[in-house]
Amino acid sequence: LAVTSATSRLLEEMTWVEVREAADRGAGVLLPVGSTEQHGPHLPLATDALLARDLALAAAAELDFIVAPTIAYGYRSRPLSGGGPGFQGTTAVRGTTLMAVVEDVLGQLIDDGFERLAVVNWHYENQNFVYEAAHLALEAKEQWRRAKVLVTELPFGDLSADTMQLLFGDEFPGWDVEHAGIMETSLMMLLHPDLVHMERAVDDQSERHPWYDVLPVPSDFVPESGCLWRPTQATVEKGEAAWREVVAAMVAALNTDLSTTVDSQRYKD
Ligand SMILES: [Zn+2]
Repeated sequence: LAVTSATSRLLEEMTWVEVREAADRGAGVLLPVGSTEQHGPHLPLATDALLARDLALAAAAELDFIVAPTIAYGYRSRPLSGGGPGFQGTTAVRGTTLMAVVEDVLGQLIDDGFERLAVVNWHYENQNFVYEAAHLALEAKEQWRRAKVLVTELPFGDLSADTMQLLFGDEFPGWDVEHAGIMETSLMMLLHPDLVHMERAVDDQSERHPWYDVLPVPSDFVPESGCLWRPTQATVEKGEAAWREVVAAMVAALNTDLSTTVDSQRYKD
């Protein structure tokens, strides 16, 4: 039953024998987490799920990682960072559901023998929930002791000053409103041009964007188009500059903290 060359790094395209071989040789596993959320009139609802998976695959290609099936439902879209739930097709799960799914999946990957795991999240609102899920998964699997989980909540948050200048000029609006905006649109133009409808892109923002939130959602928190910033400024060139750094940062993080499992000394009885 030995398999010497897996044709795919996607777990769902592998056979169980190939997955066992991957675990046995000490391969790591990346778990992409995205959302099914409106991204304006010009980008698909799968934008966050696609970018999370693309990033996982790009990093996996350079290191010995496989990529688990993407979790394509994320936490509730919030009006000030995703437009909110009022756009057709946006489909979310509550925080406890997301945490339970991520914890269950990580736990089973650990049961399968994987010891180097990483959560690759792209959806702004999933932050903290994915961290908590990783925490709970490790707590529940404490007997394994060697498993380690790296959690990336916003893998694009550390771009160089040059790239930030190229993307946003002197008007960086904050990552909360970089939703269907310049960076995400540029990345989709680079990675999934067939799914981008630039002729429909509109620059937009909510009428009001205070530092606090309000429930029920005030209508002036929600831009009509679902765009929170300026997608018409997106270009493939901006996408290339951002993607190069985002992938390099992910590879560096995995190399730094997931090239080995937990130091066995730490748990010596
Ligand atoms: Zn997004």
